[in-house]
Amino acid sequence: MNTSEIMQLSDKYVMHTYGRIGLAPVRGRGALLWDAEGREYLDFVAGIAVNSLGHCHPAVVQAVQEQVARLLHVSNLYYIENQARLAEILVQNSCADRVFFCNSGAEANEGAIKLARKWAKKQHGPQRYEIITAENSFHGRTLAAITATGQPKYQKGYEPLPEGFKYVPFNDLEALSRAIGPHTCAIMLEPVQGESGVRPATREYLSGVRELCDKHGLLLIFDEVQCGLGRTGKFLAYQHYDVEPDIFTLAKALGGGFPTGAMLAREEVANAFGPGDHAATFGGNPLACAAGLAAMWTTLNDGVLENCNRVGAYFKEKLHDLAGQYDLIKEVRGLGLMLGMELTVPGGDIVNRCRERGLLINCANNTVLRFVPPLIITPEDVDRAVEILDGVLQEQ
Ligand code: PMP
Repeated sequence: MNTSEIMQLSDKYVMHTYGRIGLAPVRGRGALLWDAEGREYLDFVAGIAVNSLGHCHPAVVQAVQEQVARLLHVSNLYYIENQARLAEILVQNSCADRVFFCNSGAEANEGAIKLARKWAKKQHGPQRYEIITAENSFHGRTLAAITATGQPKYQKGYEPLPEGFKYVPFNDLEALSRAIGPHTCAIMLEPVQGESGVRPATREYLSGVRELCDKHGLLLIFDEVQCGLGRTGKFLAYQHYDVEPDIFTLAKALGGGFPTGAMLAREEVANAFGPGDHAATFGGNPLACAAGLAAMWTTLNDGVLENCNRVGAYFKEKLHDLAGQYDLIKEVRGLGLMLGMELTVPGGDIVNRCRERGLLINCANNTVLRFVPPLIITPEDVDRAVEILDGVLQEQ
């Protein structure tokens, strides 16, 4: 099918929940995507921080091909070797002791919310159920996840929402301290907010939050769905801060492009769940975990974090150079290869013009250009992207 046929068929039959862009990639390799007409795009969106190893990383492709012919799916009634092995890797490289596997970020956050409430009820009694989250946070699109999400635009029209959520300004310890009450059981945060436009937490804030949690017997939940798994230059974003959560969630890059998610917890918290308390049919299935094993092994052992730090620093420097040249750039921020460029104007037009010239980026929160390329990009990829962006900015 050509691009226009794909668009027509999709517009006719697929629910209109996405404001689509007129591009239909059909093939990908590394940091490049191609459409049906053979047009090439440099992909600095990477499925919104999913394709951290680039498109079709050979290790992931090989692992999936081998597994798909051996065993696609088996129920969680049985033991699953790949699931156990992937859990081991995640535990060995984080502060968690146990892993629950699911299929997406929203589902991982649902699991975290359920576990936090179950734990708090066992630990402190039935009055503890409230979860405090940050304004402008994003935690996914299921009902509890939109309720945890501190942006009313995602909640509007879906009321009544589940009870027991409260929102405080991000990076404001005073406000958080005031919000904690007799019903509070957990605080849930993204160490680096993604959808709000790449906003890292400050060191003082996260360590202050940890202290408040310890003081009040609350759980600290980190949503690492977007910022985790190498994106910021460390395996997990919280590792920049010397602060450890009690529960954290993963998805996006976990399967190297294959849909999968996970919710992880410290032993004592994880033990609030017993057999029958939570489940997902496909969670941790042999194929998803084969992809996950290959993706995580590569992320941890193939120089991916080092490359992310090195090329991320180079990219950030180049973006700062642009900020020095153009008044419409207000700020450049971010960690590793999770970078944002805040503009004084909406960024949609710039995103479109970049795409016309073969560079895919996107815009978060209307005015922030977001760069979340594969972590395997080269300085030459950065040069090419910056040249295109520079050309577009010149025309503004
Ligand atoms: N949490 C964060 C921080 C996210 O960025 C996202 C997706 N953008 C989600 C949760 C939801 O993930 P999913 O779309 O896989 O449900």
